[in-house]
Amino acid sequence: MKATANGSDKLKELFESVTQVLPAECQVTKVEPEGPQIVIYLKNIKAFYDDESLITRLASRVRKKVLLRVDSSMLKDVNVALQDIQTLVPQEAGVDSIRFDPEFNEVIIEAKKPGMVIGKGGCVLKSIILTTGWSPRVLRSPTSPSEVEKAIRGAVFNASKERKKFLLNLGRKIILEGGPGQAEWVKITGLGGFKEVGRSCLLLQTSRSNVLVDCGINADTSDNKNAYPYLTAMNLGLDQIDAVILSHAHLDHCGFIPYLYKYGYAGPVYCTPPTRDLMILLQQDCVNVMNSEGSGAPYGERDVKTELNHVITRDYGEVTDVTPEIRFTFHNAGHILGSSIVHLHIGEGAHNLVYSGDIKYGRTNLFEPADVRYPRIETLLIESTYGGRNDIQPRIMDAEAELIRTIKMVTDRRGKVLIPVFAVGRSQEIMLVLEKYLQNEGITVYLDGMTREASAIHTVYPEYLRRNVQRRILQNNSPFENEMFKNVVGRDRKSIVESDEKCVILAPSGMLSGGPSVEFLKLMAPDERNALMFVGYQSTSSLGRRVQSGEKEVPTLSEGRKLSSMKINLSVHTVDGFSGHSDRPQLMAFCRNLRPKPQRIITMHGDDTKPDDLARGLNKLLHIETRSMMDLDSTRLK
Ligand SMILES: [Zn+2]
Ligand SMILES: [Zn+2]
Repeated sequence: MKATANGSDKLKELFESVTQVLPAECQVTKVEPEGPQIVIYLKNIKAFYDDESLITRLASRVRKKVLLRVDSSMLKDVNVALQDIQTLVPQEAGVDSIRFDPEFNEVIIEAKKPGMVIGKGGCVLKSIILTTGWSPRVLRSPTSPSEVEKAIRGAVFNASKERKKFLLNLGRKIILEGGPGQAEWVKITGLGGFKEVGRSCLLLQTSRSNVLVDCGINADTSDNKNAYPYLTAMNLGLDQIDAVILSHAHLDHCGFIPYLYKYGYAGPVYCTPPTRDLMILLQQDCVNVMNSEGSGAPYGERDVKTELNHVITRDYGEVTDVTPEIRFTFHNAGHILGSSIVHLHIGEGAHNLVYSGDIKYGRTNLFEPADVRYPRIETLLIESTYGGRNDIQPRIMDAEAELIRTIKMVTDRRGKVLIPVFAVGRSQEIMLVLEKYLQNEGITVYLDGMTREASAIHTVYPEYLRRNVQRRILQNNSPFENEMFKNVVGRDRKSIVESDEKCVILAPSGMLSGGPSVEFLKLMAPDERNALMFVGYQSTSSLGRRVQSGEKEVPTLSEGRKLSSMKINLSVHTVDGFSGHSDRPQLMAFCRNLRPKPQRIITMHGDDTKPDDLARGLNKLLHIETRSMMDLDSTRLK
């Protein structure tokens, strides 16, 4: 982003427009952009609350998200404020921790029932800031202990000095130093994930901005040439990238972001709050797995931490300026927790781009279907994982019946069932089905790897889940904590496999590309009473696809990294219908119901002929320009 205007002039202008709206009694001491939002410091917050019309007048004047904080000189001493807050917040709120952050003049309150800390219409929050001066921020505690959640919150809190510096710098760039918001031209380039599944990465450029949407890896290949996006092909330094916008936490969308920080990127990553937490969980695991397999991760845990300090979270529907010419809004994608469709508004109305990420436009147990309403759309980029002519999945009810029937058949013949799953997404969907049908059948469900942690993160963000699951979590009856679910971690896998107990094992990775699912398969494969059940996508190059397509002997690494082979004697089943991706009819219905109708559709995120197949189908359906793109293809949008 090139600077064109004088920053201090703009800051003066901003201060003046704020003080024109606010009455003098408020005593504004400072106005400063902090990342994409404007923060106003004032000495008398009571004067502000006395006039309820002020907040809307302020927002329409400044046209940015505005935060109010009390000037540091007026903050109550931390010990006194702590006592005040303990008196103001009702006991039943279940407060777990209260921490003061003097960098942001905020108090972070973690509680089991955040609603009670907020109060009716925000009344408790208001009394906290009026009494103590500290601005309260409320976080929900996970219903079951989550090490990852605790570590992430701790790390963000401890880095607050660094974060403040980063946000002030960024705010200056976006709000103070940027020139006019018009764009002379708009261009997109596919850097990964076009005509393939894996390493999704889109470069969006205007005359003055460079923004990446997603930056993933292909975890199924050990060949570095095909594993990472084509970042070096653009002759663009990593320090020239203004922002990364992330659709969701799967590694094929976020797995390469820490690498950017390792090699010189220092800008923000925008994502929803649950995406942040799941992303850190999956990336840390990715580093561990790659290092233990000896292939060597392209980045380390330190780079994941640097990335975390640069994350700016945004909820669905919040309009956010990324550069002076580009703003975006997240919409529900229905795919996994926190997953988003990204709506990009470029150059004061010059162009509107919708990037689907991965979407589910259909009923699931966990999420509402993907959003189809947008303010404007000229171009739609849409995934085509199941976009092929014959990619039609059964109804979810039929899939559920098939899953339960097979599990009962296998446990009746004294076998055990292994279901390889993505730790995030399919695991929780399958858990809900098993809880619904099997909780009184004497069947234990073992969760291996990060499945348990990922489920705990779901309980922190109930507002991102389907209404009925949301309600159960809020009523302290979380389906993820049913006693039929047991943790593998800390137990011997062999003793589970050799026991007499009726059980189902959920283990990542979902495509047998390493991890606990492969360890269990080695133990279970020789016994023909056991069963392996696929419930999710198996990419062309994965071990999962080979077993699924009927191979009876597959290569495997035994202890000491020696290559040996594994005989597949157990029965192999595929139950379709649980996918977090839309099938072909759902993709077509999504495009047909999209409002307004786009002028052009570009397909991505699909193997082989699927992107072309879907493009052809959509052209017949909608009579608009549709096509696929390859990696390194560029298209000028304006
Ligand atoms: Zn995904
Ligand atoms: Zn994906």
